Amino acid sequence: MSGTEIVTDVVVIGAGPVGLFAVFELGLLDLKCHVIDILDRPGGQCTELYPEKPIYDIPGFPVISGQGLTDNLMKQIAPFGAEFHLSRMVTGLEKLGHDGFRLTTDAGDVFRAKVVVVAAGGGSFQPKRPPVDGIEAYEGKSVFYSVRRMDDFRDQDVVIVGGGDSALDWTLNLQPIARTLTLVHRRDAFRAAPDSVNKMKALVAEGKISLVIGQVAGLEGEDGQLSAVNFSTEAGEVRVPATRLLPFFGLTMKLGPVADWGLELNDNLIVVDTEKFQSSVPGVFAIGDINSYPGKLKLILSGFHEAALMAQAAKKIASPGEKVIFQYTTSSTKLQKKLGVA
Ligand code: FAD
Repeated sequence: MSGTEIVTDVVVIGAGPVGLFAVFELGLLDLKCHVIDILDRPGGQCTELYPEKPIYDIPGFPVISGQGLTDNLMKQIAPFGAEFHLSRMVTGLEKLGHDGFRLTTDAGDVFRAKVVVVAAGGGSFQPKRPPVDGIEAYEGKSVFYSVRRMDDFRDQDVVIVGGGDSALDWTLNLQPIARTLTLVHRRDAFRAAPDSVNKMKALVAEGKISLVIGQVAGLEGEDGQLSAVNFSTEAGEVRVPATRLLPFFGLTMKLGPVADWGLELNDNLIVVDTEKFQSSVPGVFAIGDINSYPGKLKLILSGFHEAALMAQAAKKIASPGEKVIFQYTTSSTKLQKKLGVA
């Protein structure tokens, strides 16, 4: 596909929950989408940062996991046949006179679209790497910065480093399945929710997990497979046998190339109006966590609402002169045909 120009109605930048739902709203209006994401799977923060955590504030779902929500969204948008281009970053966005936009990726793809929807969330997020020599060699094999599948930690000697919510949540969630679990933090004070800290301390008191106050000093292992982690503590060096290391030192959210596209920004977020969620460049819309307007809440449900209004405005640009009649999915046979249910 590299080198061939792909011509489409809409390019959606970002396959997070909001980008995915945009495909649905645009699809109901007959707009064909290509979706591009840096990550190798759809779902954005939901699948990258908390796939197995429960979300409680998605309307109509009393509880659903990050992965479950993504799977449902993928099912919901399937009738519209959006094409996904994963593991590539949109680097260039250029306006082509009256002919829409030209987008380029770091994989060499070129797209031409009438409308661009930026659903880039917090931008490209990267875990902060602990300052430990040679850690790169273990990454993705025995050192992980997120838990994609809990089963990968079953019967393992797990060391978790950090004092925030991720470190404490995963300590509590992995303790029942890990062979051993050691939590390491540089001081005996934790930023995580007090309830999680109390639960962790109870597990330490029961002898079910170990707590070390110290800093990672070095790794032992071979061919990417960890065998122990060494820590410096006030009492001296401590060696903890380990087959899995989970450092939670936070994430750096980098806006990345979005900053270079000439869109008006406010504190690294794209300024939009609240009627159309259009940026300062007509034809470029911004929805979800990436946008900024008075009263903005970085919630998935806000992004879904923004996607619905954006789609109405995008339709007017992509199909000028075409009358758009507002319809309900419950009662419109036309919409039901598009969804493949009538
Ligand atoms: P994201 O999910 O951030 O997705 C954006 C995507 O864009 C990413 O996949 C990224 O790789 C991609 N991208 C960025 N730049 C580019 C580029 N240049 N080229 C290609 N791709 C690009 N919200 C709730 O409503 N309820 C909750 O309970 C809740 N719990 C949360 C718990 C945690 C631990 C976290 C971290 C967040 C939580 N949130 C919750 C917030 C919620 O996850 C976000 O509001 C939501 O993910 C925003 O969706 P999005 O599609 O706008 O962006």
